[in-house]
Amino acid sequence: MDNPARTAILRRMSTDIRFDSDILVIGGGLNGSCMALAAAQSGLSVTVIDAQKPGIHADPAFDGRSYALALTSQRMLAALGLWDALAPDAQPMLEVKVTDGRVGDGAAFLGLSFDAAEITDGPLGYMIEDRHLRRHLLAALAAVPGLSHRTGETVVAQATEAGLASVTLSSGEVLRARLLVGADGKQSGTATRAGIRRTGWTYRQSALVCAIGHEKPHHGTAHQLFLPPGPLAILPLTGNRSAIVWTETADMARRINALPETAYLQVLRPRVGDFLGDIHLEGARYSYPLGLSLANSLTARRLALVGDAAHSVHPLAGQGLNAGLRDIAALAHVISHATRRGEDFASPQVLDRYAAWRRFDTATLALATDVFNRLFSSDNPLLRGARDLGMALVNATPDLRRGVMREAAGLSGELPDLMRG
Ligand SMILES: Cc1cc2nc3c(=O)[nH]c(=O)nc-3n(C[C@H](O)[C@H](O)[C@H](O)COP(=O)(O)OP(=O)(O)OC[C@H]3O[C@@H](n4cnc5c(N)ncnc54)[C@H](O)[C@@H]3O)c2cc1C
Repeated sequence: MDNPARTAILRRMSTDIRFDSDILVIGGGLNGSCMALAAAQSGLSVTVIDAQKPGIHADPAFDGRSYALALTSQRMLAALGLWDALAPDAQPMLEVKVTDGRVGDGAAFLGLSFDAAEITDGPLGYMIEDRHLRRHLLAALAAVPGLSHRTGETVVAQATEAGLASVTLSSGEVLRARLLVGADGKQSGTATRAGIRRTGWTYRQSALVCAIGHEKPHHGTAHQLFLPPGPLAILPLTGNRSAIVWTETADMARRINALPETAYLQVLRPRVGDFLGDIHLEGARYSYPLGLSLANSLTARRLALVGDAAHSVHPLAGQGLNAGLRDIAALAHVISHATRRGEDFASPQVLDRYAAWRRFDTATLALATDVFNRLFSSDNPLLRGARDLGMALVNATPDLRRGVMREAAGLSGELPDLMRG
């Protein structure tokens, strides 16, 4: 539907209320920015508000952070017009190897191997650096008509009344919209202010994050090694570089992260093993406390939650951002279809469709990451034997293996328009 027709429908929906925008996105991280872009590109007027100033992400140097993007997330970024700019810096993931191990032992004999060639839809996903994703997202936000990107401003209050939602900024300014989207991260104030409670716990683990340069090529293979303190992911970046996401107990992570670079590498080397040759650090090092935090509801009156505001999970499967993008694609889909039918896209009926679409996937992801983390962060010989056998079984069953691959690539279930490719 062209924009004038869509505007006419939106006008008919409420003639006497003055809105600053159709959709107001609270939080302009990766998910909030993608949400704003998806909504604006479908012809809606959008305001996105972020507490941080844009300069915080302006440094083009590699800072060590990157994401594993599922195939459907890549399709969505392409549909949003971002992929052409991102592609030269994206590393396709052609194979994923999952093994059980001990520090210094290298990988166990039994394990799982997923080869992209077994599913017809292309690579299993792509690795993309945070600096490239944010830079191109910010440029896209600035280029879309009808989108106002306000940074360095904090939402401190929100309210809803018939046909209208509003937020108050720390400056005292009030902005009105038909729909609020909460994309303000795992401690979402938007959810709390709407009375949405959360379920979750801390894992008493932290993820150590860095990037390494190495002597030998990675051949596009991602490795997930389950070590007793927690999983270690070695994920291919462009060139002879890999991203490391390495889980340790919170106390140990604090101590390791405080080490000087040479000592840090001495701890990391036996965990990685020698298959990449000599390694060195590239960019900065980070440590993130890990936990599970699920919003008990994905919607409230004139409000939808997306991304970490809705669900923050253990990063062992590299699925947090991918799940956020699936939220956004589903929400954009139901909004766009409702608008075409002349419905109020922020009505409870329409928001229920979004919640129904995403509820099961969100809960399953939380449960799976939680169970896998508990099952694999243990050196108990019985558990070790059982999980090695389980992995060998999946590995020997092609249909099961392909099912897992399609799930990880985001290809299972009904796909929203933005992810169909
Ligand atoms: C170690 C680690 C590795 C990971 N690896 C992967 C991976 O490989 N693949 C993957 O898919 N996912 C991965 N994830 C998950 C991914 O990083 C997150 O899911 C994603 O970054 C969350 O983005 P978000 O925009 O929802 O939230 P956030 O990044 O938390 O952004 C929230 C934004 O809201 C703003 N905000 C908050 N409150 C307010 C307010 N009151 N007013 C205005 N603005 C506000 C903040 O300034 C912030 O910019 C990983 C996570 C970790 C910890």
